[in-house]
Amino acid sequence: MEIYDLTRGKYSLIYEPEYDYNWGMEYMSHLGSEFRSVFAKPDIDVSKLLNSITIFLVESSMANEFVAVPDCQCSIRVPEDKSYSLINDFDIEDWANSKEGIKDDPRERTPKGFTITDLLGVYIYFGEHYLIPRRIFIWMDKIADYAKKYAKNNTNTQDKRNVQTLFDLVLYHELAHALMDVGLYGVHPAPNFSYANDYPYRFIEEAYANGIALTIIMDNSHYLSSAQKTFVKNFVKSQGNGYPEGWEIYELVINDPDVNLDQWMALKVLFNYELALVLRDWWEGKEFDDLWFYKTVGRKGKIAVRDHCRKWGIMELPSQKMVTGFKKYDDFWPFDENGL
Ligand SMILES: [Zn+2]
Repeated sequence: MEIYDLTRGKYSLIYEPEYDYNWGMEYMSHLGSEFRSVFAKPDIDVSKLLNSITIFLVESSMANEFVAVPDCQCSIRVPEDKSYSLINDFDIEDWANSKEGIKDDPRERTPKGFTITDLLGVYIYFGEHYLIPRRIFIWMDKIADYAKKYAKNNTNTQDKRNVQTLFDLVLYHELAHALMDVGLYGVHPAPNFSYANDYPYRFIEEAYANGIALTIIMDNSHYLSSAQKTFVKNFVKSQGNGYPEGWEIYELVINDPDVNLDQWMALKVLFNYELALVLRDWWEGKEFDDLWFYKTVGRKGKIAVRDHCRKWGIMELPSQKMVTGFKKYDDFWPFDENGL
């Protein structure tokens, strides 16, 4: 992992260059192995992909400036520390019930305005046809400010480790976006949904990114005190638009090691209105105890996909055509050698 500190050591309390992030990277590269066996090119080395992403530590005062990169005869333009997404009246149930869902393109929906997210970090890619490498920027001053404010309001839980933990959370959160960047694996996300316009799709990204980051930092790479864990929880719960659900995903994982996080990566490829409804039901806290969206059936080019009525159908890959339709079967077991 290549980290360039453009603040030149100003936040040495937050980021220690000697700290070993390899364990977390290893953990991440194992996530999605099932996803890759079904969807992506078989020869993909995820650790290598993740390690190819350059990380820049910056301050918000550097927004839109070209800043010299240490140990490199070059400079890089630091992005804005905010992200803008469209607000619209997208209602997934109306949309699904209208049966127009398959044809609907979020890019054609009229936005009502913008919502602004104040970023602590960002994962940037420019699409497959650009040669600009993928990057992560992390705003160190904002991480420091959040921890400082938190310490002020919670005098009993002051802890200088909080700020390091928040940095780790942001770092792994952004790397989790890279893990979910299915374009990186040579597969392409569902064309009818966009991160900016659709809450369900944003939910997949942000909740899952937080879920992965929390799974790494809470129990494994650091030994956090209960006050530090409360700090992390309060932070995650204070975020909007799908981020707080990352806490639910983390709890699902610690309570049931069999919860298959790979499922979420497949959602990025398979996403359609039936799966959007599965996600909505779970998100709204309806009776949904697990997060299974697809499973392999032992046949190349075919998978079983589950709808929101908990019924399964068979889908053909890579065309994503439903062979049987949804709402079809109660369950699926792998086909045997006779195709039964
Ligand atoms: Zn994010």
